[in-house]
Amino acid sequence: ASEATGAEWDGTGATEDGRRVGVLANVGAPADAQAAAEAGAEGVGLFRTEFCYLDVDTEPAVADQRAAYAAVLGPFAGKPVIVRTLDAGADKPLEFLAQEPEPNPALGVRGVRVAFDRTGVLDRQLDAIAGATEQTGADVSVMAPMVATAEEAAWFTDRVRAAGLSRAGVMIEVPSAALTAREVFDAVDFVSLGTNDLAQYTFAADRQLGAVAALNDPWQPALLRLIALVGEAAREKGKPAGVCGEAAADPLLARVLVGLGITSLSMNAGSVRAVGAGLASATVANCERAASAALAAASPADARAAARAAAELA
Ligand code: PEP
Ligand code: MG
Repeated sequence: ASEATGAEWDGTGATEDGRRVGVLANVGAPADAQAAAEAGAEGVGLFRTEFCYLDVDTEPAVADQRAAYAAVLGPFAGKPVIVRTLDAGADKPLEFLAQEPEPNPALGVRGVRVAFDRTGVLDRQLDAIAGATEQTGADVSVMAPMVATAEEAAWFTDRVRAAGLSRAGVMIEVPSAALTAREVFDAVDFVSLGTNDLAQYTFAADRQLGAVAALNDPWQPALLRLIALVGEAAREKGKPAGVCGEAAADPLLARVLVGLGITSLSMNAGSVRAVGAGLASATVANCERAASAALAAASPADARAAARAAAELA
């Protein structure tokens, strides 16, 4: 396995020995989608729909939502796109979904929790997503943010199916969802790990606070062990488990994630080529060795060093 360079990637996400791993992009606006397509992303692993509405104070009409989503899906006709339903609250407040003031917004009514008593907002968004899917021909899946239990996942899947959309998934970004990954998988078609929030909630460390940034390092062995639980459950259930947090953008960590059983990686467009090239120059066995070494490490620095040494062994 050699070091990744941009020049080596042929545009198909796969390990050197041919295991397919989708190399996808995170997007929030039409310009991001264009950049992702130009960077060679095979699709979109996370469309942050709330980014369309950060400065909007009333709920957008279904037709307007449909047009906004179609503008992002447009470059991906025939390709996989995972659309995330509105992730409002905490670090991403939306005026039209504002909650009563809460002492701890990151632990409050945010993400899918907003939809439990604003069901109409979710159903109208799902209608708009279904319309944009039909209009663009993108291969759309829908997922919910901030799901904590398998019960919540089942509730969301029912609403997605009722809207006529065929594939429903949830983000795993709360430790309780990772710990019950088997049951969550039984309720959905796929999951995607949000490592930014999963780290925040695992380490009780605000993701926006520089003073605790070291705890939010995606190489933290405790975070890797939670990801491993999800990877094992994915293998057992035969369902996809992606990663769409910042962890997926690091070429060496991407190999570790594949070794942990992750089936697709979604990142900023600027990292697509390096991650694709990194995977293409590593076998599954390289990835698994890197994963075992990182899991056994005592610190993020040790995990990085151990994974690097293990990944280079032929
Ligand atoms: C995450 O939490 O890792 C994630 C991908 O979602 P966001 O960064 O939008 O919260
Ligand atoms: Mg998140």
